[in-house]
Parts: sequence; C-alpha cells; structure tokens
Amino acid sequence: MSSLDYLIVGTGLFGSVLAHKLHGIGKKCLIIDKRTHIGGNVYTENINGINVHKYGAHIFHTSNKQVWDYVNSLVEFNRYTNSPVANYKGKLYNLPFNMNTFYQMWGVTTPEQAAAKIAQQRQESGIVNPSNLEEQAISLIGKDIYYTLIKDYTEKQWGRKATELPAFIIKRLPVRFTFDNNYFNDKYQGIPIGGYTKLIEKMLEGVEVKLNTDYFENKPYFDSIADRVVYTGEIDRFFDYCYGHLEYRTVFFETELLEGISNYQGNAVINYTDAVTPYTRIIEHKHFEFGQQPDTVISREYSKEWRPGDEPYYPVNDDRNSALYAKYKELAGKQSKVIFGGRLAEYRYYDMHQVIESAFELYDKLTK
Ligand code: FAD
Repeated sequence: MSSLDYLIVGTGLFGSVLAHKLHGIGKKCLIIDKRTHIGGNVYTENINGINVHKYGAHIFHTSNKQVWDYVNSLVEFNRYTNSPVANYKGKLYNLPFNMNTFYQMWGVTTPEQAAAKIAQQRQESGIVNPSNLEEQAISLIGKDIYYTLIKDYTEKQWGRKATELPAFIIKRLPVRFTFDNNYFNDKYQGIPIGGYTKLIEKMLEGVEVKLNTDYFENKPYFDSIADRVVYTGEIDRFFDYCYGHLEYRTVFFETELLEGISNYQGNAVINYTDAVTPYTRIIEHKHFEFGQQPDTVISREYSKEWRPGDEPYYPVNDDRNSALYAKYKELAGKQSKVIFGGRLAEYRYYDMHQVIESAFELYDKLTK
C-alpha cells in the first residue's frame, strides 16, 4: 500500500501549482527536487534585499484572467512593465520596435513617416524569396533596424551567422506605430512583490517538500510510496537517454553585487546588440521591483552552445529533436503510473502562464 496519493518530481511552477491544487482538495502529496531550493527556474534569491532572478529574468504576463487571479490570490503583483532598451555601440534605442525606436533611428516624428521609411527600405532590399534569417529580417523591416538591432544580437544568441540561420526563425517582426515601449501585448503583467520564491512558498504551504533529492537516486522507492508520480524533469533522462540526448540552447550568467551603486543602468533589461560586447544583455534585478536599496545586483547574460550536463534552457525544435522527442513521448505514453508535465518532460518552451494553464488542465483531468 502506498502512503501518498502523489509524488511530484520537481518544485518548478508546474509541480508546485499541481501540488497546491491537489493538497487543496485533501490529496496527500510529497514534492521533491534535486536542487537546493524550490521554484525551478523561476527561483529568486535575496541578495542584499534584492530579489535576484537566478535562472534568467522572468516577467509574468498573461491574458488569461483565471491564471492572473490565481497567482494574485497567492501574492500581490506589482505594475512592472517590461520595456527593454537596446544599446548599440553606446547609442540607446527603445524596444520593441515602436515610434520611439523609429525616432531614435531616423528622426521621424509621425507614424506616416515611420511607415514610409520602413516601406522604402523593404522595397530597396529587393528580396522576394528570403533564403536565410538575414534576408528574411531585411525583407520585413529594412536594413537599418536589421543591422543595428537584430543582426549581431541574433548571431550572439545562436552562435552562428545570420546568413547560415534558417529564415523561419523570424516569422514576423512586430512593429508598433505608437509611442509604446511595453514589450508584451498581454492584458496583465507584473512581478510578484517579494520575488517568485515567495509565490512558490505560498503554493507549497502545508505540502511536504524534500530538497537535494534526486528521483533517480532511489526511483524504485519513490515509485513505491505513491499511487501516482508526476514527473517534471527531462524526459530523455527518465528513459536513460535510450534514444540519445535531446538538445537545448543554453545561457549562462555572470552575477555581480555592486556595493554602493544604487542604480547601475536605470532599467531592468538592456540588450547589447553589437558584435563586440560578448554578452547579450545585462539584467539589473532591483528594477523589477522598483528597489531603492543602496546597492545593486547585475547579471550579464551570455549564450553558449549546449553540451550534455549543461543547464537545459530552450528546447531546439528542429527536425532531429522533434523526431527524438516523439519517440520518448511514445514511451511515456506506455507508463501507467507516471504522468509527464512541464517544460522538460514535454520538451517544449512554456511561458509561466502557459505552464500554469497546463498544470490546471492536468489537475482537471486527474480530478474529474
Ligand atoms: P522547471 O522550472 O525547470 O522545474 C523543473 C524542476 O524539476 C526543477 O526544479 C528541477 O530541479 C526538478 N527536477 C528535474 N529532474 C529532477 C529529478 N530527477 N529529481 C528531482 N527533481 C528534478 N516565462 C515567462 O512567462 N516570462 C519570462 O520572462 C520568462 N523568462 C524566461 C527566461 C529564461 C532564461 C528561461 C529559460 C525561461 C523563461 N521563462 C519565462 C519560462 C519559465 O522559466 C518556465 O515557464 C517555467 O520555469 C517552467 O516551469 P517547469 O515547472 O515546467 O520547469
């Protein structure tokens, strides 16, 4: 007889939302994580009073009222609006591409002038059937924005020349003919006051949590103590990489506490869009929460080629990896006790609101 209703592997958003909901209806759950902390990739660490986004900047945005109401019922969210700035060789441009960017780029002051400038550059490019990312971007937005804000940044991100990258990576380039620097189009946006760790702590209130605990170190035991297992780790690891490794794109961070500096860059996110700067962006964490601390913490973010053992960040949805995932998914479908969910077990990029929606769906399925 197992003593638990559910063993949940992974305290990221997927596992924690599910644990919260199942615990709420009286199900007995144990949630484990191999890391030393809860929260998975949304974990924030408090350094000198500043909530540092340890696994990369996380901005919560959604148009789903149910999701927004859910997270706000747990912690209060602030009014943070993501408005990144690009630094190209010392000159600053607002993002996403909007009237501020067009003014900074060309001195144009009306939407009509901006639209005409873009149309002219598109036409001058003469590109009809773009065969790579560079041609695709120029055909969509013209050469000025491409060379200043897209080319070098994209090449740093992918570690490859834009002419060697497929055109499909850029399907469209949203442009806005208003003076609006809000990066997202969603209805709701903000950051949990006190950081994401506080949000996860709230979800896990009353749930038994074991950290520093790798499921695979004692899988037979963990499987024996629960009726069902919800697994949110890497799917290929679950099957001992029997078909080979799924690949990821990864990033790493150089985080620095700057004592005595209260405001380093005046914005949470500044992208470095030139080729010479080795990092892609600098995050100044305090600005996510309008921090007034005397010190600041910054993270320089670098892209790098993923190797087995590196932190798996972004799935690579090319043909090879999609085919490999399909094979693992088939194996997963044959597991009667284990349910696979979340970004690693489903090998797909999920925004936070999407992973919460997905956990809600699983909860509904399990309880109907
Ligand atoms: P995870 O957070 O990865 O949780 C999985 C957990 O399982 C981890 O804690 C891991 O340690 C644990 N685990 C794995 N294997 C085992 C094992 N064998 N035993 C025990 N524990 C195990 N979304 C947004 O909405 N806005 C953003 O601005 C945003 N920015 C992002 C920036 C970056 C750099 C990245 C990579 C993602 C970003 N996201 C953002 C997406 C967001 O991080 C994900 O939606 C979310 O973290 C997914 O949660 P999860 O529970 O599926 O996975």
